[in-house]
Amino acid sequence: MAASGEPGKQKQEDVAAVVVVGSCMTDLVSLTSRLPKTGETIHGHKFFIGFGGKGANQCVQAARLGAKTSMVCKVGKDSFGNDYIENLKQNGISTEFTYQTKDAATGTASIIVNNEGQNIIVIVAGANLLLNTEDLREAASAISRTKVMICQLEVAPATSLEALTIAHSNGVKTLFNPAPAMADLDPRFYTLSDVFCCNESEAEILTGLEVSSPEDAGKAALVLTERGCRVVIVTLGAEGCVMLSQTETVPKHIPAEKVKAVDTTGAGDSFVGALAFYLAYYPHLSLEEMLKRSNFIAAVSVQATGTQSSYPYKKDLPLDLF
Ligand code: ADP
Repeated sequence: MAASGEPGKQKQEDVAAVVVVGSCMTDLVSLTSRLPKTGETIHGHKFFIGFGGKGANQCVQAARLGAKTSMVCKVGKDSFGNDYIENLKQNGISTEFTYQTKDAATGTASIIVNNEGQNIIVIVAGANLLLNTEDLREAASAISRTKVMICQLEVAPATSLEALTIAHSNGVKTLFNPAPAMADLDPRFYTLSDVFCCNESEAEILTGLEVSSPEDAGKAALVLTERGCRVVIVTLGAEGCVMLSQTETVPKHIPAEKVKAVDTTGAGDSFVGALAFYLAYYPHLSLEEMLKRSNFIAAVSVQATGTQSSYPYKKDLPLDLF
């Protein structure tokens, strides 16, 4: 640790404990009575803009639990980009390595939702895909000194791979969320993951196995640990999650709280952000206890509408989670 006050050096307490290398997306949501047909123009009854992107969602959840966080990402030099940076700051997240580019627009997800809750979504990743390994070299001071580094697959896979490599080679715990899943994932993603956390459908795509029960999830997790991940967690919506590790080779099911879900969008990101918080700040807890608490926090998020807007703050949660 650098001595306090030493010129030119960051104090340990200035370094983020959770660093996320990932995406920021502006959600443009229109609510309509039905989905439009090709070539048709229809009127919706409500429009709102939300902050999304798996990377930023996970970072926001970790920050709201009290984690010192930093977001390594790229947005456009446009009004959505400016607003996104303001949103990160309002959540207490460091934007030191949040880059802005003129070469692409801020990532967007244009979403139409009908009265039955069915949707059509167009994602334009835009600036997210321009986050590159040069940017990571600049951010390496934060990535190499953090406690937990999270990444996903909404930025270029080569960028996520580089982030995992920097973290891993510096002894930083890596939490990889392979979303959106790709069947032909580079095998290095598995060996560089200390904790590999995916949902049912991602586990199916990655393993080719059907995953619709805790038993199935255990089998898929076994395949994923055999590929080199130290710990695998498969989330199962209202069923909670299943964990398996290279040292605890019998899958363990950790059930979720029974709650009345109103909107499960972004529940997986709430779970991952919470898990990163526990890995960074409560490393003495058993993994099972961390997952119980992460289940609890994600279950709170499904009881309110929206993505980041549904994520709880530390002050709203029971004291025994901390
Ligand atoms: P994703 O959002 O990636 O599809 P899941 O649906 O598996 O992820 O949800 C992630 C976590 O959120 C679950 O492991 C659980 O802790 C919590 N969760 C999701 N849906 C519910 C629900 N209906 N009731 C309680 N908890 C839920």
